[in-house]
Amino acid sequence: MAKKQFKTESKRLLDLMINSIYTHREIFLRELISNASDAIDKRYYAAMQQGNTGVDRNEYEIRLEPNEAQRTLTITDNGCGMTAKELEENLGTIAKSGTRAFAENLEKAEDISVIGQFGVGFYSAFMVADKVTVYSHKEGEEAAVWESSGEDGYTVSPCDYEPVGTKIVLHLKDNGEEANYDEFLQEYRLTSLVKKYSDYIRYPIRMQVGRQEKKEGTEDEYETVYEDKTLNSMVPLWNKNKNEITKEEYDQFYRDTFYDFDEPVSVLHIRTEGMLSYTALLFIPKNPPYDFNTKGFKRGLKLYANGVMIMEQCEELLPEYFGFIKGLVDSPDLSLNISREMLQHDRQLSAIANNLKKKIQQELLRMIKDERDKYGEFFRSFGRTLKFGVYDNYGVNAEFLKDTLLFHSRSLEKEITLKEYADAMPEEQKSIYYAAGDTLQHVLKMPQTERVAEKGYDILCLTDDVDEFALRIMREYADKPFVSVSDPGLDLSSDDEKKAMEEKKTENKALLERIKNVLGDKVGEVRLTDRLKSSVACLTGEEGMSVEMYKVLRAMPNGDSVPMTFHLELNPEHPLFQKLSELDDEKLKEYAELIFAQAKLMAGLPLEDPAAFSEAVCRLMQ
Ligand code: ADP
Repeated sequence: MAKKQFKTESKRLLDLMINSIYTHREIFLRELISNASDAIDKRYYAAMQQGNTGVDRNEYEIRLEPNEAQRTLTITDNGCGMTAKELEENLGTIAKSGTRAFAENLEKAEDISVIGQFGVGFYSAFMVADKVTVYSHKEGEEAAVWESSGEDGYTVSPCDYEPVGTKIVLHLKDNGEEANYDEFLQEYRLTSLVKKYSDYIRYPIRMQVGRQEKKEGTEDEYETVYEDKTLNSMVPLWNKNKNEITKEEYDQFYRDTFYDFDEPVSVLHIRTEGMLSYTALLFIPKNPPYDFNTKGFKRGLKLYANGVMIMEQCEELLPEYFGFIKGLVDSPDLSLNISREMLQHDRQLSAIANNLKKKIQQELLRMIKDERDKYGEFFRSFGRTLKFGVYDNYGVNAEFLKDTLLFHSRSLEKEITLKEYADAMPEEQKSIYYAAGDTLQHVLKMPQTERVAEKGYDILCLTDDVDEFALRIMREYADKPFVSVSDPGLDLSSDDEKKAMEEKKTENKALLERIKNVLGDKVGEVRLTDRLKSSVACLTGEEGMSVEMYKVLRAMPNGDSVPMTFHLELNPEHPLFQKLSELDDEKLKEYAELIFAQAKLMAGLPLEDPAAFSEAVCRLMQ
């Protein structure tokens, strides 16, 4: 029979499996058992939907059958089975998005160990087998067999496999001494692998095990008696009592289920009964998954109805701003009979989602209080997502999320909450001050921060592009408005100082007009400011759009067209400013342009004509 070729990306993955130097080859068993369990779920789910309870739930099983003589390990399930076409589609290509992403990342992945981050699925069989045969029979369809010895392709043909379900025969590799895979034929090894990775699979995983028994009527003769043994305890971890579960068990479950190397920073095990019954097991990860900030990332929780998984990733259970949460929900109230589409509008589901989001928020707040370092670590990974949550949808969730945020405090030189800032404010301080820039170093050196700091007020240093947008949408915290050190309305002066400033403005009116004239359209207004101390000038944006916000918007697609006017603010106390009035028009133009260019540089904006700037500086130095 003609061999069919694997799709390119499958081939690459297969290649990696076959030549795997990956040390955890044993996970192939977990993958195949988990496929078997999913297949049984599918059959059960379909039967329920059709109101057909014909198959007794107790009859479902997954069977392991090692055969030392033939060096095969057979894994059988009585799940949904596959038709010839499905065998071809499912095993000839990479169906799963995670696996596909993995294949796509293969070339970039210098470190093979990333493999653990992905559900490698069916192909992991090739880590231990040099030939894989899959017999499958879907109810009411013809049975078929898929077979492959790896890279050279596969065949699919009809066969007469009778039972409904799938039987996978792995012919174990034998590379001689250094790597034969006999271990996967040993009862003891298989038993412990099932315990380790698949204990909570809800269908029995059975195997015939031999036991030495004294032969009847003899003194010291033994015979081997075979009996069926169920290897897994079948109790899903989340159905056990919290106090019976160790941290290691939670962590192990998390790693195996969600393919993360790190342990989670926090685990939430929630059980509620009454109006709404459900169990949820939620994990707050430490680090974002590789695709977290890509379009391909899908948030959601696994959804189980009474132990049967009905959805791999139920988006409706998590708001976007908590999209980093991993976990599952199991509820006896969800009917297996309802379709997935209906599920999306299910009232139960939205009630559960609502509860969960409060629990998550409470846990984050608890961590801020009790485990600040850990929270800091978490926030470095996911703080942006929370801040986007504040900003998103015109700030509807700002109130809910505001206390989960951390910002860098200029005075304390560490991350603090808004509440901590507000609580530490001196009585006379009216606003919460912040400064935004590209990096912390930039922000700390911003000329605009000098006066505020001199007053003894702390400044929140914002370095994420979303930060200023988030604060602006919140407008205030604890009745104190957020004010940027660059805001046109920054008000730090006493009445006397203000009066003095007004006088200076009048005095220098003509000079400011001259400067505006020589600079022309490049600049909006040229005005005096009292926010500077040691610098002569700074740039400010417009009401509602700061220089930093402009930079963020400009960096977006089509951002070139964002309209913006920059105003030049000058420090009348600066010696250079005092010198300006003595200059003739030509010199004034040169100086004003230099000052303007410097202000732009300090604001992190590019110069229109860097060459001219450089020449002007050289001229000055000569
Ligand atoms: P994943 O299970 O992550 O989707 P796999 O590569 O493991 O990816 O499997 C691909 C597909 O093959 C599965 O989605 C499923 O549809 C099908 N499949 C695998 N094993 C079985 C099985 N034992 N019974 C029925 N279908 C199966």
